[in-house]
Amino acid sequence: MPGGVQTEVKPYQMFINGEWVGSKSAKTFPVYDPSTEEVIAQVPDASAEDVNRAVAAAKAAFEEGPWASTTAQERGRVLFRLADKVRQNLAALAELECRNTGKPIVEAEFDLNDVATCFEYYGGQATKVVGYVNPVPDNAMSLSLKEPVGVAGQIIPWNYPLLMAAWKLAPALAAGCTCVLKPAEQTPLTALEFAKHFADCGLPPGVVNVVTGFGETCGAPIVQHPDVNKIAFTGSAAVGKIIVKQAADTVKRVTLELGGKSPNIFFADADFEAAIDGALFGVFINQGEVCSAGSRILVQKSIYRKFVEAMTEKAKKIKLGPPLERETKMGPLVSKEQYERVNEYVAIGKKEAKLASGGGRPEQIGKGYYVLPTIFYDVSNSARIAREEIFGPVAAVIPFEDEKDAMKIANDSPYGLAAAVWTRDIFKAMRAVKSLRAGIVWVNHMQPTYVEAPWGGYKQSGFGRELGPWGIEEYLETKQVHINLNEAPIGWY
Ligand code: ADP
Ligand code: MG
Repeated sequence: MPGGVQTEVKPYQMFINGEWVGSKSAKTFPVYDPSTEEVIAQVPDASAEDVNRAVAAAKAAFEEGPWASTTAQERGRVLFRLADKVRQNLAALAELECRNTGKPIVEAEFDLNDVATCFEYYGGQATKVVGYVNPVPDNAMSLSLKEPVGVAGQIIPWNYPLLMAAWKLAPALAAGCTCVLKPAEQTPLTALEFAKHFADCGLPPGVVNVVTGFGETCGAPIVQHPDVNKIAFTGSAAVGKIIVKQAADTVKRVTLELGGKSPNIFFADADFEAAIDGALFGVFINQGEVCSAGSRILVQKSIYRKFVEAMTEKAKKIKLGPPLERETKMGPLVSKEQYERVNEYVAIGKKEAKLASGGGRPEQIGKGYYVLPTIFYDVSNSARIAREEIFGPVAAVIPFEDEKDAMKIANDSPYGLAAAVWTRDIFKAMRAVKSLRAGIVWVNHMQPTYVEAPWGGYKQSGFGRELGPWGIEEYLETKQVHINLNEAPIGWY
């Protein structure tokens, strides 16, 4: 730790029905700081019986509790108060996020600011949910009403822990749903700290429950529970597929935001300096632990050699170090498991392609799950490092001939979360926007996204859209109401 601060292991409880509780089994599991490899907390290891308790609380809060009768205005105010709490506690929450994930503190602060913005946005959206009067061809009044879908099970990944929780909690609460939130087992701490403010902000018991546990023992019981009406999941494609199958038994609504292998495409006419910067930022931000990472870097042949050289030179200057230091641009990966997974892909890459830089851990750092920014070039789009999501700082640079070739390679992927294209030719850019099969296309940028705009994937990157008005729609049912205006019998028989 910076300054040699030794941290004690903090015991946490989880938050069910407005109370802080342990797991029924009394089991706990350790949570780590990936930069020191030390245990920083113990949290309850929840299983099906704990999930049952959380779902029962959420169901009661939805059906009978004070939440059931709140107005949209009241829910909006709760969301604004949650946003204020995040802003008031931003420094402490960002530091905790930084320590638990290993992400640089400056990035953690950005994330926490986005958390607050997300609650503010949906505080406003709560009062913008409207129904319709349908112009039916009869003497009747036909209405469509928007109603909350019910109890939402929300399963969160470890790369942006509190931000991904906010993306799910905020629209759900705006819609009037109640929630059972499961943070990732690697990174449950900020969600638990945030839950300490729920009562103060006016959230009645049971409206948001936070259960901590592992995927198969705590996540799966949420997905299978008959009283959970909807699952919102962000995580790996492998687990997404399991969730869709398991949710089928109770015909749950499901939204999935899964992985990607997103192409970042550089035409020869792009601004060269901006392009090199954009290529590195696209794939190495947050240590590459980003679902929309621009991990396939497609470069036009006429600038290819120069591009790889410039990228390599600049990548070598990226500052790895303790995540709490403000100059750090890359921290460690989140866990030992992830470190090993990424290193396996690095080993595969060394067989499949040529290594330009990185490919191991930084020599000067002894502890922590650090991986150098790694660039492979002359990568075939059929190589495993070009097809499989690595979720770490590993770039695959692929040459292309012309526009047609670029689009073909870009779309030749099972995934379709994101894509970016760099060019100064507006016609070429717009043709690419139309051709690329992805949920977001950036032109001359990669990664920024906003709560006002839709987020989600094509193909095996998932379905459903989070954020913006699309995000709240996923937590709403639509009810048709038919009001007969004829006072006479139907007259059929
Ligand atoms: P990773 O492989 O990087 O750990 P996962 O997709 O496994 O990513 O994890 C994302 C989230 O999904 C975590 O909260 C994890 O606990 C949860 N999860 C993992 N497996 C399952 C499962 N079978 N059912 C429900 N949730 C799961
Ligand atoms: Mg997992």
